[in-house]
Amino acid sequence: MMATMLTACNNQNTTPVADEFNYADEHFADLQMLRYRVHGFEDLSLKQKELVYYLSEAALEGRDILFDQNGKYNLTIRKMLEIVYTDYQGDKTDSNFVNMVTYLKRVWFSNGIHHHYGCEKFVPGFTEEFFRSALHGVGVEKLPLADGQTVDQLCDEVFPVIFDPAVMPKRVNQADGEDLILTSACNYYDGVTQQEAEDFYLKMKDINDPHPVMYGMNSRLVKENGCIQEKVWKIGGLYSPAIEKIVGWLEKAMAVAENDQQKAVIEKLIQFYKDGDLKTFDEYAITWVKDLDSRVDFVNCFTESYGDPLGMKASWESIVNFKDLDATKRTETISRNAQWFEDHSPVDGRFKKEMVKGVSAKVITAAILGGDLYPSTAIGINLPNSNWIRSVHGSKSVTIGNLTDAYSKAARGNGFAQEFVISPTEIGWMETYGDLTDNLHTDLHECLGHGSGKLLPGVDPDTLKAYGSTIEEARADLFGLYYLADDKLVELGLTPNKEAYKAQYYSYMMNGLMTQLVRIELGSNIEEAHMRNRALIARWVMEKGAADNVVEFVKKEGKTYVQVNDYQKLRELFGQLLAEIQRIKSEGDFVAAREIVEKYAVKIDPELHAEVLERYKKLNLAPYKGFINPVYKAVADAEGNIIDVTIDYTEGYAEQMLRYSKEYANLPYRN
Ligand code: ZN
Repeated sequence: MMATMLTACNNQNTTPVADEFNYADEHFADLQMLRYRVHGFEDLSLKQKELVYYLSEAALEGRDILFDQNGKYNLTIRKMLEIVYTDYQGDKTDSNFVNMVTYLKRVWFSNGIHHHYGCEKFVPGFTEEFFRSALHGVGVEKLPLADGQTVDQLCDEVFPVIFDPAVMPKRVNQADGEDLILTSACNYYDGVTQQEAEDFYLKMKDINDPHPVMYGMNSRLVKENGCIQEKVWKIGGLYSPAIEKIVGWLEKAMAVAENDQQKAVIEKLIQFYKDGDLKTFDEYAITWVKDLDSRVDFVNCFTESYGDPLGMKASWESIVNFKDLDATKRTETISRNAQWFEDHSPVDGRFKKEMVKGVSAKVITAAILGGDLYPSTAIGINLPNSNWIRSVHGSKSVTIGNLTDAYSKAARGNGFAQEFVISPTEIGWMETYGDLTDNLHTDLHECLGHGSGKLLPGVDPDTLKAYGSTIEEARADLFGLYYLADDKLVELGLTPNKEAYKAQYYSYMMNGLMTQLVRIELGSNIEEAHMRNRALIARWVMEKGAADNVVEFVKKEGKTYVQVNDYQKLRELFGQLLAEIQRIKSEGDFVAAREIVEKYAVKIDPELHAEVLERYKKLNLAPYKGFINPVYKAVADAEGNIIDVTIDYTEGYAEQMLRYSKEYANLPYRN
């Protein structure tokens, strides 16, 4: 499925100046908290701000749903930890308490007790004895006790889930051959085996239906009294208290919708939350895909299926956003000139499109993140998930500009560039032009690169098989690289001068030849298509330019650096490789595809790899990042009319999480 995805592949970690704003001074376990700025919020109309405000509230009201979906004890455990965190009377410098705080911060981050990415259960760094005695020390009335339960009984019930590594070890188990439902801790099934669940849905499906709904997407499948049935998430069903709150805000949002189409979207969504009917959901999705003119847009529903080992049940998530008009102008300028770029590309005329149409990708600004997009988030979204809706009605594809921006700013000042970039000259280029040329390269790649060129008549698009996606990504990247250095970009006002492209050229070569290896374990090959494509391009041009010493490795004090000696020749080499890659694609030359990928894109020099990993490790960077939301406040006049919506960025991580747990505590501990 093509749900939301984190395209971290564009994050090349290169620019070196710190931006204090981004850091939230929170770095724990393998996590780093960042902030994002909602550029342009002030310029929205009052009505649009009001709309964002209501949708933001709706985005936060569903938080407990995700905690419960991720595991049936998560809400109870979160509450127990939070009470000790706020009410503990003992020594707060004691290592048990300190480690419990880290554990709680990880639970908040992952919306449960399992790692948000790896799915494995956290290992608590505090003892059962400490936690039991701490729970006895706080007010009993505040604890999430079941009816008639004592504190000790609560501990006996829940402690194995926290402390016993054998209990619920994985949120989602994908190990082939095991019962994936019984061995997964996620709360999408209760009392049913994998076989029973598969049979249940197989019976429901009609393979001849051209418009199949996404079966099972909005329910928990349970066996009660020997009978297997769905408990649907809707008003009057499971998670009703949270959904009622969401709908309450959506109704307010509907009243200030920008236009009829957007109003219809919100109306359909409300209807779906009320009736739980998956046909209604499809109608909603179709209406949403067609809403292209509104400035403000949002997702608020059961969306991602990665949390279900069978890939059917959808986790709840929300994002509210508005179109970034300036950045979207950039993509529109590129798209408008698509034919010029096609006509002037260095590929053989036989492989060019006579009529090329640029894809206009929308750039958006995130205003709030909720559910499965918070605090760990995607930077690109492509929805809806339904295959038939995608093919008949299309999908919306967006990149989230202010989050990409926050990631790249956070990468500044973390020591990465100082460690790996060869000299202050290159660092200076990246500092000045890094973000701009990085975004521009992505735009050229997405808006033009993938859409350029054509296959010769009779060539099967699948001929390149396993090498197809690496070749395709290389083609799009090379199209972007080649044109980044073109005077046309200066003429169109997309780059400020004839030097800016060097920032991207240097960082691309450094990444492809060296620094992208930090994501790979020593001894492994390069597997992922985007990484293969980058290695392919960087190594090919290095080899072909060797006679002229275009790019070389330089050793300084035992460390390896990439040095680019001739930027114009480098551009010519990108052009030559683009022509060859386009030929391979257009002719469906499988043998050449295999040869070039296997030769340049797969193997890693173990010595260089070990050196890069060692240097990276010393920087002590957190591999995972997440975001603290801004806080919106509605300012009302004496009659209760909203006259302004303010935005504040000062809330801390724990402060925000505790506030959410209090203000949006919409579900019982046990659902
Ligand atoms: Zn691509």
